[in-house]
Amino acid sequence: MKYNNFVCLDSHPLVRHKITLLRDKKTPSKDFREIAEEVTLLLASEALKNLTYVKKIVNTPIATYEGIKINKVTLIPIIRAGLAMMAPLQKLLPDSKVGFMGASRNEKTFEAQEYYANIPKIEKDETALILDPMLATGNTLVHTLDYLKNNNYHMDNVIIIAILATPHALENIFSKHKDCLIYAAGLDTELNKNGYIVPGLGDAGDRIFNT
Ligand code: URA
Repeated sequence: MKYNNFVCLDSHPLVRHKITLLRDKKTPSKDFREIAEEVTLLLASEALKNLTYVKKIVNTPIATYEGIKINKVTLIPIIRAGLAMMAPLQKLLPDSKVGFMGASRNEKTFEAQEYYANIPKIEKDETALILDPMLATGNTLVHTLDYLKNNNYHMDNVIIIAILATPHALENIFSKHKDCLIYAAGLDTELNKNGYIVPGLGDAGDRIFNT
């Protein structure tokens, strides 16, 4: 299935190499966190290639240079696993704003249950990056996009980055938010009866936070 607004980076050997390490159950939590951060940066560099900016002139020691200054980015990690994607992006984009969506999934219905939401205003020319590492059913992301739409956020430059996605999640998300733009490092085919991605990498939150 081809999705117009979905970009999967798994044909890039470096991305595939890192994802293989994340999938390996022998990878310890410390390494898992660091590799998840590296994958986040690889994803962001692709996802932010159309980042908006203004002109900025600087003087080099030799001459003037017409450069750019990027507009602010708002990071929206989905608690809890999305927090691991926040740290490297705050370092890369030190002026970024951060908003949080706390939503757990009901283990029987897999519906998203919001327990915390605190997302700053997204200005017209700003990009918002939603950090949702595991698009398994896609319900949490749908909930987050619904929240932004229902609360009149600017949705023109909202981009999602994920470590793994499934066709099930993509169908669900694009059926409700057809214009959203998703970048993932891998696309798996299945979900098991507990809602875990197969082959996947296990519970991302548990592996990141060593629980
Ligand atoms: N969340 C995870 O952390 N892993 C999965 O496989 C599915 C949802």
